[in-house]
Amino acid sequence: MSQTVETIKPSYPLFRDADYKESLGKKQEMFEERHPMAKIQETFEWTTTKEYQELNFARESLTVNPAKACQPLGAVLCALGFAKTLPYVHGSQGCVAYFRTYFNRHFKEPVSCVSDSMTEDAAVFGGQKNMFDGLANAKALYKPDMIAVSTTCMAEVIGDDLNAFINNTRKEGHIPDDYPVPFAHTPSFVGSHTTGWDNMFEGILRYFTLNTMEGKEVGSNGKLNIVPGFETYLGNYRVIHRMLGEMDVDYSFLCDPTEVLDTPADGEFRMYAGGTTMDEVKEAPNAIDTLFLQQWQSVKSKKFVKGTWKQPAAEVEIPMGLEWTDDFLMKVSELTGKPIPESLAKERGRLVDMMTDSHAWLHGKKFALYGDADFVMGMTKFLLELGAEPTHVLCHHANKRWKKAVEEMLTGSPYGVNGKVYTGADLWHMRSLVFTDKPDFLIGNSYGKFIQRDTLHKGKEFEVPLIRIGFPIFDRHHMHRDTTLGYEGAMYMLKTLVNAVLERLDEETRGMGTTDYNYDLIR
Ligand code: SF4
Repeated sequence: MSQTVETIKPSYPLFRDADYKESLGKKQEMFEERHPMAKIQETFEWTTTKEYQELNFARESLTVNPAKACQPLGAVLCALGFAKTLPYVHGSQGCVAYFRTYFNRHFKEPVSCVSDSMTEDAAVFGGQKNMFDGLANAKALYKPDMIAVSTTCMAEVIGDDLNAFINNTRKEGHIPDDYPVPFAHTPSFVGSHTTGWDNMFEGILRYFTLNTMEGKEVGSNGKLNIVPGFETYLGNYRVIHRMLGEMDVDYSFLCDPTEVLDTPADGEFRMYAGGTTMDEVKEAPNAIDTLFLQQWQSVKSKKFVKGTWKQPAAEVEIPMGLEWTDDFLMKVSELTGKPIPESLAKERGRLVDMMTDSHAWLHGKKFALYGDADFVMGMTKFLLELGAEPTHVLCHHANKRWKKAVEEMLTGSPYGVNGKVYTGADLWHMRSLVFTDKPDFLIGNSYGKFIQRDTLHKGKEFEVPLIRIGFPIFDRHHMHRDTTLGYEGAMYMLKTLVNAVLERLDEETRGMGTTDYNYDLIR
C-alpha cells in the first residue's frame, strides 16, 4: 500500500493512488452490481431534459437534497444566543449529534448541546424519566443558568408533553421550582430550522414575560429590541451593533450567539460566552418596539410581541442591499428620534459608488438562488438593485404569501420579469431548472456544489458555478464571519458577485493563443 508511516496522506490524494484505485475498482465490480457506464450516462443525459423536469416537478412524496434543515436545529441556535444557556433536546441522541456536527462544520467551533437520549423503552413508555434524569444531570454537570428544551421527531411522534414533563421534573425535586427551563415543541415533520428558531424564541419570551406583564409599559425604558432570527453570519450581528452604536440608539439584541460561536483559542474552553441575559428578556416588553430582522421567519414570535407585549412590531424587511438598509435605519430613526449619522450616510455613498463601478459587469447577469425565506427575499432585492437578473428563486420552506411577495418584487423591476419563484421545492428541482434554463451563476449554500458538478459533467458550456452565500457552508472556511446585512454586507456581497463574474471571465479567456485576447488586466 502507498500509505506508510513516512508518507501519511489524507484521503485526498491517497485514494488517487494506483492500489486504492484498483481496490475500489474491484469493490465496484464484485459488490456494487453497477449498471454499465453507457447506461448511467444515458440516464444522466435524460435527467437534464425538459421531459425529466416535468416528471421531477410532479414528484410528491420524496425530497431530494432539501434546501432546509429540521426544527430542533434552529431551536439549538436560538438557545445559544442567550447567556449561560444550555440547549437541551428531548429525543434521540443521533439527532443532536447531527445538530452539533452541522454547526461545528459551519462555524468551526465546538457547540454545546445535550440530549436526554430517548431509546426504545422511552419510545414505548414516553420520555418523562429521561427528562427527570436529563435535566438534573445537565444542570449538575454543565452548570447553566438556564436550560432551553426543544424536541426531536421521536418525542413528537409519541406526543410527549414538555410542559407537563418539566412541571413534573420540578415536583419530583430533580430541579428547583424557580430554575428557568423555557421550552418549545419543534416537530421536524412540519416547518424547518427557521420555524424551530421562531418556536424556541417565542418559548423563551413566553417563559420570562407571559405571567409578569403587570406594570410593564411599552416605551418606558426608551430602548429598541432587535431580533435577528435564524442568523448564521456573525458579521451580521456585529454590523447591526455597529450601526445602532453609531446612531447612539439604546437597544437590546434579543438572541446573540456571536461570542459563544467565536471563542478565542487561548487555552481556556468556554462552554458559555456572551448572549442576551434573562434580565434583558424580562425588560423587553418595556421597549418602544421590537424589530424582527427576518420577519418572514418570525411569525409566531411577532404574534406574541404584538399580542402580549402590545408592541407594534413595526414591519421591516431584512436590511439587505441598499433600499432595505435605508428603510431599516429610517425606521430606527423614526422610532427612537435619533438621526442617521454622517458616518452611515458616507458608508451608503461608498456602496452606491461600488454599485456604479461594478454595474457593467453585473448588468444582465442571470442568477439562480435558494435558501431561507428572508435571505432569498433580500438577495433577490439586492440583485435587482444591481441590475442583475434573478431567474430561478427557490425557497423550500416558504409559504404562498412569501411567493406572491417575491413575484411582485420581480415584476416591479425590468430585471425581474423573467424570474420564477418556487416554494416547497428542493435542490433536485433546482438541478432540473438550471439544466433546462441555464443561469450564469447559482447562489446558495454548500449543497449547490453537486449541481455545479452535474452541470459541468454535461459539458463546460453547461456549468453553473456556485457562489456560496447562505447556510450551511461546510466546504469553505470562515465565511460565517462575513457580513451580508447593512451597507457593509451589501459591499461584501457585491464584491463576491462581481469577482465571481470576473473569475469566470478569466477562466473562459485564458486559452493561450485562442481566447486570451480578452485575458486582460483592464477591469
Ligand atoms: S428530522 Fe427528526 S429524526 Fe431527523 S434529525 Fe431532525 S429531529 Fe432527528
